[in-house]
Amino acid sequence: MESKKESISPKLLSKLRKSLLSWFQKNKRELPFRINKNAYRIWVSEIMLQQTRVAAMLPIYETFLERFPDPRSLQNASEDEVMKYWKGLGYYSRARNLKKGAGLLVEKFSGQFPENFEDALSIPGVGSYTASAVLSIAYGKHHAVLDGNVKRVLSRLFLIEQDPLLNSTNQLLGNLALDFLNPEFPGDHNEAMMELGALVCVPIPICQSCPFAEDCEARIAGKEKEIPAAKSVDNWVDLDLHFLFLTSKDRILLLKYPGRRFFKTIYSLPFRLEGKHPYEKDPISEEFFATSRLNSNPHRAKHSITNHRIQLKLSETSEDDRTRIEEIFRKNLDVFFKWVKEEDLKEEFPSSISGKLIKLKNKTIKQPELPAGKV
Ligand code: SF4
Repeated sequence: MESKKESISPKLLSKLRKSLLSWFQKNKRELPFRINKNAYRIWVSEIMLQQTRVAAMLPIYETFLERFPDPRSLQNASEDEVMKYWKGLGYYSRARNLKKGAGLLVEKFSGQFPENFEDALSIPGVGSYTASAVLSIAYGKHHAVLDGNVKRVLSRLFLIEQDPLLNSTNQLLGNLALDFLNPEFPGDHNEAMMELGALVCVPIPICQSCPFAEDCEARIAGKEKEIPAAKSVDNWVDLDLHFLFLTSKDRILLLKYPGRRFFKTIYSLPFRLEGKHPYEKDPISEEFFATSRLNSNPHRAKHSITNHRIQLKLSETSEDDRTRIEEIFRKNLDVFFKWVKEEDLKEEFPSSISGKLIKLKNKTIKQPELPAGKV
């Protein structure tokens, strides 16, 4: 899709960029990862902020960096110690990725976060958003960040009314973010956009404090509270996600493989897609479910992932012979599995779904029956 750049005059672009930076200089929060432009420190902050709010992350960030001030110290620490310093942030796979990434920086990139975008993407846990943020802020590289806050600001500023779930909308916003990026100060520009989305252009926007107020197309049209557009009902996909608690020797099975529809990069309980949905069957989960004796839980819970309206279902089974189960996965090189304690499920399967499934499971625990004659 074409960018809107053609319809935005260079004069206006320049004015908007300047207003943004001047607002940022006056209003930015003093945050420890802004003190200097050290790529390692920015990388750590971006990973911590992926699923944690700034206020909760700050004290942990400071002690983490005191103990692990550079990639080598993080690489040399034991995983247990890294986890200890990560405590309170949750989603521990991020910490494991950071440690693995630190090893990669030391071994492959002379202890520095790489300046090249493709190299940055090769670091575990680093996707295009994190790579763009670190490279632009630390090295002044011309990469635009596009997180939820930035999308909201751009959608309002340039009156993008399309369904935010469509790939074409995402592409349009990506093009706009790049066109709007300040070529002289890409890092400050990116930080300013994120800060504006976090402090001013919030879901109920505070337009009177906004540097774009005079030119914002959504505000001029009186649509600032309607944009981004509500998710289109037409795009909803209804499906059942049927999860399995497979217990063996007091441990439950978790799987991870890229060929499935959801949770491609994290461990989860095994699951199968059911109901009327447009997706192909996943042969691994089909085989696995077909060869397990299931004890179905009658309760259901609701969940949504992007445009999927999901009904969560749960079955339980136990298996003394782990080898039979593991054989199914060993045939597939892409499938990773592990056995974890049930009390660690929320940490090991880092999605709010794990909490909902535990609640479903606990609903079915029967009260012990009283012996006959005792009331
Ligand atoms: S004027 Fe209002 S709606 Fe427009 S970008 Fe600023 S805060 Fe957001």
